[in-house]
Amino acid sequence: MKLTIGHLYPQLLNLYGDRGNIICMVQRLQWRGIEAEVKEFDLNDEIDFSELDIVLLGGGSDREQLLVCNRLRTIKEDFLHYVECGGVVLAICGGYQLLGTSYKMGDETIEGLGVVQIHTERGDERLVGNIVLQSDLFPLPIVGFENHGGRTFIGNYEPLGKVLSGHGNHDNAVNEGIQYKHVIGTYLHGPLLPKNPHLCDYLLQLALNRRYGQVELMPLDDQDELKANHYIVEHFTRTDL
Ligand code: GLN
Repeated sequence: MKLTIGHLYPQLLNLYGDRGNIICMVQRLQWRGIEAEVKEFDLNDEIDFSELDIVLLGGGSDREQLLVCNRLRTIKEDFLHYVECGGVVLAICGGYQLLGTSYKMGDETIEGLGVVQIHTERGDERLVGNIVLQSDLFPLPIVGFENHGGRTFIGNYEPLGKVLSGHGNHDNAVNEGIQYKHVIGTYLHGPLLPKNPHLCDYLLQLALNRRYGQVELMPLDDQDELKANHYIVEHFTRTDL
């Protein structure tokens, strides 16, 4: 078995070590004897989505998001088709914002992919710090670090999780991120997946099932990762909830 991971525009969208999410996916596949190939795409490369199992759209500054948005317009249809056919996507921060219809930055508005009908507006202050979520996907919380000026409004979409500590989708938001089909969008950098092996395996499982039918994912020894996750939950979760 083999999974192919597409990293879109790593030269522009790779803030705070988002590439670590790919290293984590590859390693957890290889530990189970599953082959993993990573394809990095630069702005001018053609992307054949039919050969991809997981797509990573990382974070980027406002300037970098402006640079990729013209290119996104040209791949929009293929990207939407991939998502509607159950393709797995992990979109982080700037990448999460680009999944939506628009990102309004003062006088300028970036058009997004429109995979989901959500939108983002830049606020005055940046929302920065450790963050802890409770997702309905797992009993174990999801932990990470957020640093964004954009505020994202998800309407009636399913969030990735409820904020136990930190900001989330906007100032004082109750929720963080979004889940749609096999797409996860989130503000959590960190990188996210090494801190949350349960979320990493969730994405791998979706991708393997889509490509090969129901696949059993061998459990790994995650004691150290779970200890780190637990430490963050203990130290940053509000006690007043
Ligand atoms: N430019 C976006 C914001 O500040 C995303 C930044 C990021 O990816 N960390 O909201």
